Amino acid sequence: MAKLVWRVRLVAELEPGVVTATELARIERDAQASLAELGLRLDEAKRLTAALQAQLVPAQVAALGESRRSCEACGRALVSKGHYGATFRSLFGDVPARVRRRLACPCQGAAGVRSCTLLELGKDALAPELACVTARYAALAPFGKVAALLSELLPLGGARHASTVRNRTLRVGAEVVQGGFRREAHHLGALW
Ligand SMILES: [Zn+2]
Repeated sequence: MAKLVWRVRLVAELEPGVVTATELARIERDAQASLAELGLRLDEAKRLTAALQAQLVPAQVAALGESRRSCEACGRALVSKGHYGATFRSLFGDVPARVRRRLACPCQGAAGVRSCTLLELGKDALAPELACVTARYAALAPFGKVAALLSELLPLGGARHASTVRNRTLRVGAEVVQGGFRREAHHLGALW
């Protein structure tokens, strides 16, 4: 029987004129599709968004790591201190990332051994949007049901456990109490 095949490619232009293409997904259907095979299915949509996220996040983290090579105060070049591994937990999956570290500039006092990163992910960074969505549904339904609902619709990692939903909700609650929930991307690590 004849098959229809779609290959979904992500074309990235991370530097002007430098283009790379990555295949994200392959979708196949028999030419004689039933109603259930018409269009995108949930499992395919989850895999597709997770594959896209897995491309975006490491590229962004790498770009951030390269974007500040010198001290903002004195202009001195900052010494690289390698990378550390972190996991970025988002609505579209858990994505491992390598975060570049640099030694803090000597002009910042005696803290020469301290390292700094532009984006402090910590070991287990949670996307503010995932925290918000989790907390919003946890206000409406038991933690276990929220976990089941979210993991059915989204390519989530840990949120399939009621205890994860509970912990994330409590943290968001604590943030709100402490004076407002911060959504800015550079506060990713501050929450978790
Ligand atoms: Zn400096």
